[in-house]
Amino acid sequence: MLAVLPVRTPTLPPATHTNCYRLGDTVIDPASPYPDEQERLASWAGGVRRILVTHHHEDHVGGVADLRARSGARVCAHRDARLPFPVDETLEDLDTIDTGEGVLVALHTPGHADGHLAFLVDGTGDVVAGDLVAGFGTIVLVPPEGQLAAYLASLARVRPLATTLHPAHGPACSGALADQYIAHRHMRTGQFLAALRAGASSPDGIARAVYATVPGANLGLAALQVRTHLAWMRAEGLAREESGRWTSI
Ligand SMILES: [Zn+2]
Repeated sequence: MLAVLPVRTPTLPPATHTNCYRLGDTVIDPASPYPDEQERLASWAGGVRRILVTHHHEDHVGGVADLRARSGARVCAHRDARLPFPVDETLEDLDTIDTGEGVLVALHTPGHADGHLAFLVDGTGDVVAGDLVAGFGTIVLVPPEGQLAAYLASLARVRPLATTLHPAHGPACSGALADQYIAHRHMRTGQFLAALRAGASSPDGIARAVYATVPGANLGLAALQVRTHLAWMRAEGLAREESGRWTSI
């Protein structure tokens, strides 16, 4: 039975916590760098023998070293993950992990982060999704690591496997959320293209044009999303950049 423990982390608003998951002797993303939360996590994770890391962002790995020191658990991550501590075992796509209470299947799902892994509980539709989706708010793709083409491919790949997505932030959601995320990204691309055609020529200008009416929008983060989409649009032959000026094709 997949168990979850949200722990407080230095993450992006509106999230304040990161979900740690446990199946059998395996814990995924012991995330908190805060001693009181690490204490709580360690008692919840008693008997842990293996720590899996979905990706290297700081709101996912802050408690890995502490839990390893307390338990002697082995740390496993994808080889492309850039972790601030040594890894005992690298995981490849479709590697399986027997937790004693079920088998986890590693799914290489890049796009948000290099070496991002999601984990399917084999024989079920439960997918521990990391930052592929979120139970609230949104997933930020920060260039150059954030790659829209890879992200869309990762969502499309996980969709048919997932009845329930268990994200790192917020409550569990239907697998159909992956379809909604794909549609949302295409909708945004359409809006950015329309802003280009209306005369906006920079990521900041496009962000202002598209997000001006969104209450509470963070225009700095929005401009980063625009940059990620523009890179994809250039690769798809939809936009070009000359001397820092973007235009539609
Ligand atoms: Zn992340």
